[in-house]
Amino acid sequence: MEIAYIALGTNIEPREAYLTGALEKITEHEEIKMNNISSIYETDPVGYTDQADFLNMIIEVETTLSPMDLLAYCQGIENRLGRERDIRFGPRTIDLDILLYGEETVSTDELTVPHPRMHERAFVLVPLAELAPSYSIPKVGERVEDLLEKLPEADKKGVRDWSAEDERNDT
Ligand code: AMP
Repeated sequence: MEIAYIALGTNIEPREAYLTGALEKITEHEEIKMNNISSIYETDPVGYTDQADFLNMIIEVETTLSPMDLLAYCQGIENRLGRERDIRFGPRTIDLDILLYGEETVSTDELTVPHPRMHERAFVLVPLAELAPSYSIPKVGERVEDLLEKLPEADKKGVRDWSAEDERNDT
């Protein structure tokens, strides 16, 4: 049994339905147990910026799958939910990234764990800090909350609690 963290992201409507669909499919697997889920955040696109805002969240799972089998299952979900892979970093129905797999590091052509850019991305660190603030990221050797603290304010402003926004819209 290993603890893994998986990041979910989507910027094509219906965004919430894509998140829910992915969560359902993850829990369907008998070798994956969902331990915890973060809040949902609405985030400014990073990299290729001429596209719609994302919804991002992170889940903590417990699994007996190997990192590669977990990746294959996640990619199956991406395909089932109809992801289009035209533009790198471009619009997507659902993107699943394996951030962390226990204390393990993986470095192959198909899979890099910890995810290589996770420690500099506010849309990863903000939700991850909810679930695992004191987790020290292998290779980077720093805790999630310390990495988040060091990020520029402008980056953090691009990550907004979406559930809170939802409540505001309802009233
Ligand atoms: P992306 O378009 O950003 O979703 O990248 C997908 C590609 O990243 C796939 O070909 C994966 O094999 C590769 N990849 C490498 N490391 C990871 C990881 N930690 N989680 C998910 N995909 C990964």
